[in-house]
Amino acid sequence: MGAALVFYSAFDAFEAWQPALQAALPGLDVRAARAGDGLVAGDPADVRYALVWKPPHGFFGRFPNLKLVINLGAGVDALVARDDLPHVPITRLSDPRMSQMMASFVLMCVLRHARDIPLLEKAQRERRWHFVSPRTAGEIKVGVLGLGELGGAAALELARQGFDVRGWSRTARALPGIACHHGLDALPGFLAESDILVVMLPLTDETRGLLNAERLARLPRGAAFINVARGPVVDEAALVAALRAGQIGAATLDVFEVEPLPQDSPLWGMENVLITPHLASMAIPRSAAAQIAENIRRVEAGEEVANRVDPQRGY
Ligand code: NDP
Repeated sequence: MGAALVFYSAFDAFEAWQPALQAALPGLDVRAARAGDGLVAGDPADVRYALVWKPPHGFFGRFPNLKLVINLGAGVDALVARDDLPHVPITRLSDPRMSQMMASFVLMCVLRHARDIPLLEKAQRERRWHFVSPRTAGEIKVGVLGLGELGGAAALELARQGFDVRGWSRTARALPGIACHHGLDALPGFLAESDILVVMLPLTDETRGLLNAERLARLPRGAAFINVARGPVVDEAALVAALRAGQIGAATLDVFEVEPLPQDSPLWGMENVLITPHLASMAIPRSAAAQIAENIRRVEAGEEVANRVDPQRGY
């Protein structure tokens, strides 16, 4: 029996992933697990690799010869929170196309605020010619929280557009053209200097609820707020209060504490909020398959895998 990869996702299309995986890994047996109970046809002992998005509890334990787990996406908070992870390398997807997709989405969000588009949309609805003196990018300070694969790419794209970009991470980072800061002590000052704040942090024990009322109050009054990472990094009730009070002037939100955003969320009705349904970026089968193939090669060769997740650290 040859080696098999098992695919589980109730969200992503196997029909798109199967041909991409088979093109990158000729001869590999790619099997879909049934959405819901995760049942897979064939001998479980053949399965060496698992490409998964939120599989059912106990899923990994069914495969005695599992060597590699690949999270079908960049965010691993759901995966590392599990108590049934196997003792094999855990990796996530993160490739240049995914970063480019995120960087362009973040650029769109930042430009929207930088060029006062929400004000102009409101004026248009009221049939009002509302001239707002445009600001140049260099006059606008953009703070990017999280300088990883996606956050780093977004920060660099914003700097390329001429914004005054600063970034914040857990450990020290250096990115050309970006004023880099790190650690909790630097956060209050960092927030105070962010006309537009972009949240690109993974959800971990340390980042859950990080942007609470006190920290949101550090932002310059009327700052714009963008979250494309994970909803629970922000205290949503505090965000709503800050938006109502004008402490935050406008927000673009792609992620929420509860998704889909509940019907009764006050965010739906807020004129100064743009809601997008968690689509800033996603794993792209063709480019991701090349990355998966390389990691499979490395596992088989006994080499260290790329994009490895540290479950203890949470990302
Ligand atoms: P990475 O893991 O590559 O980078 C994470 C960054 O956050 C690093 O710079 C890291 O610091 C920093 N960080 C982590 N914890 C802390 C902390 N406690 N304090 C300060 N900084 C911290 O992640 P990506 O850039 O690839 O992705 C970011 C997130 O985007 C994902 O975790 C996911 O949740 C979200 N996402 C959202 C999507 C969407 O469609 N909306 C799509 C894909 C991902 P350091 O550099 O020191 O390690």
